[in-house]
Amino acid sequence: MQPCEVCGNRYEGAFTVTMADGQAHVFDSFECAIERLAPRCAACNCRVIGHGVQHESTIYCSAHCAREAGISGLADHN
Ligand SMILES: [Zn+2]
Ligand SMILES: [Zn+2]
Repeated sequence: MQPCEVCGNRYEGAFTVTMADGQAHVFDSFECAIERLAPRCAACNCRVIGHGVQHESTIYCSAHCAREAGISGLADHN
């Protein structure tokens, strides 16, 4: 069993997350997976663990933050 790539813990409930590009990551908890994989909002710097909104390659946690960053025309997912 491989250790968690964030904290190094070896845990029998560890799981692998495979990204769209085929890269596999091993974690012992969702907390560690979020720490490593979740993007950060470009406006408020919080972790984006929901859908978020994307403008070109920039990710925001909400349409509100996109507007704060001066981007119009984005709406929250309903
Ligand atoms: Zn971990
Ligand atoms: Zn935000």
